[in-house]
Amino acid sequence: MTLIQITQPAPVATEQPGERQNGAGLVQISPLDSPRSNSEALAPKKLCSSSTAIAPKKLYIKTWGCQMNVYDSKRMADVLRPLGYSEVSEPDDADFVILNTCHIREKATEKVFSELGRLKKHKTRRETEGKSTITAVAGCVAQAEGDVITERVNHVDLVFGPQAYHTLPEMIAQLTGAYGANRIINTDMPTEAKFDLLPEEETAPSTPVAFVAVQEGCDKFCTFCVVPYTRGAEFSRPTKQILTEIRNLVAAGAREIQLLGQNVNGWHGIGLNGETSNLGRLIYQIAEIDGVERIRYTTSHPRDMHDELYAAHRDVPQLMPFLHLPVQSGSNAILKAMNRKHDRDEYFRIIDKLRDYRPDMALSSDFIIGFPGETDQDFADTMEMIERVKFTSAYSFKYSQRPGTPAAILTHQIHESIKDLRLQTLQNQVTTHQQEFNKSFEGKIVPVLFERSGNKPGQIMGRSPHMQSTYVLIPPHQIDRMIGKTMDVCITGGYQGSLAGDLVTT
Ligand code: SF4
Repeated sequence: MTLIQITQPAPVATEQPGERQNGAGLVQISPLDSPRSNSEALAPKKLCSSSTAIAPKKLYIKTWGCQMNVYDSKRMADVLRPLGYSEVSEPDDADFVILNTCHIREKATEKVFSELGRLKKHKTRRETEGKSTITAVAGCVAQAEGDVITERVNHVDLVFGPQAYHTLPEMIAQLTGAYGANRIINTDMPTEAKFDLLPEEETAPSTPVAFVAVQEGCDKFCTFCVVPYTRGAEFSRPTKQILTEIRNLVAAGAREIQLLGQNVNGWHGIGLNGETSNLGRLIYQIAEIDGVERIRYTTSHPRDMHDELYAAHRDVPQLMPFLHLPVQSGSNAILKAMNRKHDRDEYFRIIDKLRDYRPDMALSSDFIIGFPGETDQDFADTMEMIERVKFTSAYSFKYSQRPGTPAAILTHQIHESIKDLRLQTLQNQVTTHQQEFNKSFEGKIVPVLFERSGNKPGQIMGRSPHMQSTYVLIPPHQIDRMIGKTMDVCITGGYQGSLAGDLVTT
């Protein structure tokens, strides 16, 4: 068996840069002994155009995790489309199966292995029918644990990290060519190349909300987080490229643009004048594109808030009054142990300033409960912060160790029963605030951008400016023509997780 491994070791890697393993048929091509960089070696010059007819093939992508992964999956489909692949919703008869993984949640790797177990049956059945299937593991689990995957599962053909999907045509050619490898691991970390291979025209988005990755990677190194190791250093796409992509998306039917990045408000791409820009400035420019009705951005870091971004919240009507601003803990001691590089007072100052500029701003956050060493007082500080800010939603999780991160080896791990109790207390409080916030909308008229049909007959779902899911009943035959429209809705019910209302007719 030939296995090609292309890897630029990240800090969690067990091997050293340039190390070459010769056992078990594994060849590592490292940047130190390659005449060209890996990205150069693999980067496609352009997608091939051939006069030979391309056989249609089926592609199944299963995506876990954040919107960035959803975005990457869409781009994988874009890269593979010229090779004849069209997406299907079930893996049963797919020629190519990609598991695009997330490493943030607990037991992420185990979930991938159990999915691979299920996929093996499809692969075996198709083999008996004389059909081959390429099975790939992509994303952050692939980046962090590619070696483990290939060691444990022999029916995986491709393992590639989040920065390598633009090389899919080359990887497939290496797998299927006359002198093809049996397996490929590509965890190289070139930064910009993957964004250079965007389609000139966008396919129509399935909802009027389109996601645009403007920034990727992280240099912050919070002690609990794997992202700096799996996504690499912070990289910002240039303004011109972003504006072109958004214009294409709007032409294809998008109405709301959600800008994505691990530290999206730290975006610092090259502006149209050739100088370094910032996210606030970029938002002003996006707002000038005809047809952009709404703009949001996620995920932000408190340290990257800046004056032009505050001003954009005041000046740009399309910028929605909702911000997800993770804080993780309300305790200064825990924030320090997490290496967040800001304290609770700084977070409060940011919230106050945002509300000075945009008084109706709603906020959500992330919380990690039971970080090593978290005392009752630390947790009380977090609860006090929640009471003061009154978040309208929050993602909260019990701390769990991530191999390779500094916090994983900290002593004073918190007992599960204490974490459970604290998590429940926190979630109850956030739920109360969410309910109160949604209830306060009863009787108000809210502009709702409709995204899709609801689960009940005649139900249509959209979002308010504050990101509340809003449900309206209309005649079923009108649903299709309503999707993509922003309509005024009179709110008749405010519940914990949603609003209900009636269309305002004039
Ligand atoms: S800022 Fe911290 S939590 Fe966010 S991606 Fe970077 S290291 Fe992870």
